[in-house]
Amino acid sequence: MKSVQSLLLLASLAGSAWCADKINVVTATQDLASLAAEVGGDHITVEAIAKGYQDPHFVEPKPSFLLKLKRADLLAVVGLQLEIGWLPPLITQSGNAKIQVGNAGYLDMSAFCQILEIPTTQVTRAMGDVHPLGNPHYWLDPENGRRIAKGFRDKFSEMRPSDAAYFAARYADFDKRLTDAEKRWDSQMAPYHGRKVVTYHRSWPNFCERFGMVVVDYVEPKPGIPPTPSHTLEVINTMKRENIKLILVEPYFDLRTPNSIAQQTGGTVVVLLPSVGGVKEVTDYFKLFDYDINLLTSAFAKAK
Ligand SMILES: [Zn+2]
Repeated sequence: MKSVQSLLLLASLAGSAWCADKINVVTATQDLASLAAEVGGDHITVEAIAKGYQDPHFVEPKPSFLLKLKRADLLAVVGLQLEIGWLPPLITQSGNAKIQVGNAGYLDMSAFCQILEIPTTQVTRAMGDVHPLGNPHYWLDPENGRRIAKGFRDKFSEMRPSDAAYFAARYADFDKRLTDAEKRWDSQMAPYHGRKVVTYHRSWPNFCERFGMVVVDYVEPKPGIPPTPSHTLEVINTMKRENIKLILVEPYFDLRTPNSIAQQTGGTVVVLLPSVGGVKEVTDYFKLFDYDINLLTSAFAKAK
């Protein structure tokens, strides 16, 4: 009898020890969650705070976010002030010492990545909501996705040295699948190399540079500033003059101005997803590029 009891006790201890041994990862966005899951597999749990269909600059804080943050061993953020409007107070209020800025459980993924549009002059309010540390939409270049995954591999291995070989193998497999996918994406995009586009917000510099498109203008007159009639007119004139046919819009912006620009230029509005979770079927980092590149290539093919 006694031995059965101690066996049960041992079993429950082993069970809880095994659970506690998973790294509880919380990420600011679903893109980072997808990349963490690629590397962490079943040795981590991972949850994202912002949903991929939300504007990541403006996320309404909810009590459930605090619960996630209280339990986290690791918080991964996009950084470059993308989350500055909503995440810092949540981190403080969580009271979780591990994930406070500067501590071992706080990981800023921008540190691993190639960052574009780093301002070379003093940033002022007159420039709009310019991110003064550079463009934070960097995860839209698969090479940066690879660097983020590598960052997770190293961090997870530091936190669980006994699992380092597991994380290394998962990363190597991800790296290989990403290389294969990039070949596919590159050949799909090759016929449209050098095409000019207009985008709503500055979400796409890394994506466009990687896949050979040129962003000529933005629907926003300045980052984070809603469209104005005078700027909209300039965009229309530019599109006509340079024969630009596509207007790329993130799913959380009002379509009225883009639609009216399209109407006056014979152009097409393409609602492109900046994040995993932007629509239900885009459940991981690979599906994000599959979705966007399929949409873009068919829009380019139709545009004359
Ligand atoms: Zn932005």
